[in-house]
Amino acid sequence: MNTRPATSEFDLIVIGGGSGGLAGAFRAAEHGARVALLEPHLLGGTCVNVGCVPKKAMWLAAEVAAKMKLAPTLGFPVQPAALNWPEFIVHRERYIEGIHSSYRRRLDAAGIVLAPMRAHLVDSRTVECENGTRLRARHLLIATGGRPERPDIPGADLGVVSDDFFQWRAAPARVAVVGGGYIAVELAGVLQALGSRVEMYVRGSHLLRGFDHDVVEQLTEDYRQSGVRICFDQHLAAVEPDSGGVRLRSADGSASDRYDAVLFATGRRPNSERLGLEAVGVATDADGCIAVNERHETSVEGVYAVGDITANAQLTPVAIAAARRLMDRVYGGSQAVLDQRDIPTVVFSHPPFGQVGLTEADARAEHGSEAVHVYRAAFRPMLNALADVPQRSLFKLVCVGEDRRVVGIHLMGEAADEILQGFAVALKRGITLQDLRETVAIHPTSAEEVVLMR
Ligand code: FAD
Ligand code: NDP
Repeated sequence: MNTRPATSEFDLIVIGGGSGGLAGAFRAAEHGARVALLEPHLLGGTCVNVGCVPKKAMWLAAEVAAKMKLAPTLGFPVQPAALNWPEFIVHRERYIEGIHSSYRRRLDAAGIVLAPMRAHLVDSRTVECENGTRLRARHLLIATGGRPERPDIPGADLGVVSDDFFQWRAAPARVAVVGGGYIAVELAGVLQALGSRVEMYVRGSHLLRGFDHDVVEQLTEDYRQSGVRICFDQHLAAVEPDSGGVRLRSADGSASDRYDAVLFATGRRPNSERLGLEAVGVATDADGCIAVNERHETSVEGVYAVGDITANAQLTPVAIAAARRLMDRVYGGSQAVLDQRDIPTVVFSHPPFGQVGLTEADARAEHGSEAVHVYRAAFRPMLNALADVPQRSLFKLVCVGEDRRVVGIHLMGEAADEILQGFAVALKRGITLQDLRETVAIHPTSAEEVVLMR
């Protein structure tokens, strides 16, 4: 691959080779633009290397482990065995290396110049690489993403973050997970299924702020049933060493038991430092995110930003969709902007939890309580019933108005991750409850509950 720019003049320079940067570079090249891409680390950024992909691999391993646990109760004469992490990680990393190779091939084929270096802005048309090389282009796209953030408490360095989790070669026997968001819920679920004893420390009174309350409560109950201990209203003051492990000191002075590891899943920070933003006049918000309008333009003409470096939803498909639409506008004459409403999302919990549209609380706030109609299906999926496992699924529809337009779909249960996408299309097309009821069910499935709700 050509990593040395033949020319320092381009149509577009992309800083960051993660989900958003790569999508922008590829789409611009499709439109005929001469593109340079700067990425000092592994191609694919967070999602491919320390995010969605290795996380989903671990989630799949955890799902297999959970099924193996059920097997003896169903008559299989096998005993559940612990995962050999190093062996599994070989498969995981082989899969990821396949993605890297595919990106490299596609960059070469598209004629995109890859410079494996950090870079910062010198002015609105010039970027300086860490070796001093200066590149110029009419348009600059910043897609430098974010990184995990630890709480600002003494001893926080004794804990690990999600990036470190992907270096683990075994499940710690006893682990504290701090946080109640996506990453905390996902990694707590994986670790519990793979044999750790997991305790979650959540500063609020619920998991997954912003998700539908009822469904979160059912997920919390399912987690407790599977052995995860969840402690709410926890305010940590420090992390302290304890016999080769750690203990957590609370704000009230009390100390926890010893843990082999503490994992902080307490949010992420945008990588907006040392990018030269102030010098060039690119505005950021109070959290350090680059401020963009709906066209992903920054405060400086010709400089754009997409993905986790902005305050948009921190999801790979959002970064990709924003970058593609941006390049279609810049080079393809399109006027389309990314519609940020009704973005479907799945928390890869055990079981998975997907939502699109409004929660019941948001719908009541937006449409008035009397206009909102809620339909629920709480049930035990067939495999759980066969194996006499207590975990239940909860599916919920939030509808508004006399025609019962569906404005929110919340699915927590087996296969919810796969079921949601199709229903997200339907919601975006403005379907009503009647449309669902007129659709013949697929039986016997969990998905049929969505069209059978009364
Ligand atoms: P990134 O992918 O972070 O890429 C930014 C790139 O910029 C990096 O490669 C970095 O090296 C590079 N960079 C930084 N500074 C510079 C510089 N100065 N010069 C040059 N390059 C630079 N989203 C989902 O949709 N589904 C999931 O299941 C999911 N799971 C996740 C699990 C975890 C544990 C985490 C942490 C995130 C997950 N996400 C998931 C979120 C998703 O990974 C991010 O939203 C997505 O990667 C953002 O893409 P991006 O291009 O904005 O940034
Ligand atoms: P989230 O914002 O989802 O959750 C952060 C959690 O940490 C919240 O519970 C928050 O509490 C808590 N918290 C924040 N600061 C502190 C603190 N100082 N002390 C204790 N608790 C604290 O962030 P994540 O890190 O889990 O994930 C980052 C983003 O990555 C997600 O928002 C999501 O967009 C994306 N992601 C997507 C995934 C997917 O699509 N499946 C999977 C993983 C990540 P509070 O609610 O009170 O603020």
